[in-house]
Amino acid sequence: MIVGQQKKFDEIWEMVKGFRKVMVLGCNTCIAVCHAGGDKEADALASMLKIKAANEKVSMDVSHGAIQRQCENEFFTPVLEDLAKYDLVLSIACGVGVNFLSARIGKTPVYPGVNTQFFGGVPKPGFFEELCGGCGSCVLNLTGGICPIARCSKSLMNGPCGGTNKGKCEVSQDIDCAWFLIVERMKQLGTLEKLFEVQPPRDWSGSFHGGPRRVVVEHLRDIEEKQ
Ligand code: SF4
Ligand code: SF4
Repeated sequence: MIVGQQKKFDEIWEMVKGFRKVMVLGCNTCIAVCHAGGDKEADALASMLKIKAANEKVSMDVSHGAIQRQCENEFFTPVLEDLAKYDLVLSIACGVGVNFLSARIGKTPVYPGVNTQFFGGVPKPGFFEELCGGCGSCVLNLTGGICPIARCSKSLMNGPCGGTNKGKCEVSQDIDCAWFLIVERMKQLGTLEKLFEVQPPRDWSGSFHGGPRRVVVEHLRDIEEKQ
């Protein structure tokens, strides 16, 4: 899932205080799971903005709502016309949602209420950890299912640096050394010898270093073109 955190309220207020008619729009998928931008958070944030506006004697009409996903047309189609009537949409989806809506809503600005951070898992309630960097060419088959790109502080591909210390990363004792985890996991799987195979130089062109990426699912595109 995509993980993010709601921006500090003071920062949000600075963004929105000049607008009269504001819609706080949540997204009920990833960002709702990490308690940053679902319908409950949209409701709470809208209430905070109303109170702040009243305290500051600023005339502001604040509404709130949420759709299931802010990254797909089908969820925006029923609400887009209505959203375009606001002076500002404060989206508390991830940055994908803000980009996606900005390209469709016309003259209404869409501002981000969330800082989008990473692709992660939820090992226990309220705890999110980065597990994948979206590199475009997955090597987890070679590293025991542990990502050296997202989980090693230096994204090292060839084994640990000299700072690895009793399973911890030199960057912080709170961070497990990814390469320690990789070695231990590969020992457990009986595949440690794979680490001695020399890999060809990695092609990073499929990562974000190669510019914005697109994925086309051919059979879905063919269906669309026939309609
Ligand atoms: S190797 Fe790439 S695709 Fe695979 S988990 Fe790591 S960042 Fe994600
Ligand atoms: S100590 Fe481990 S996780 Fe930290 S930078 Fe070095 S190899 Fe990467």
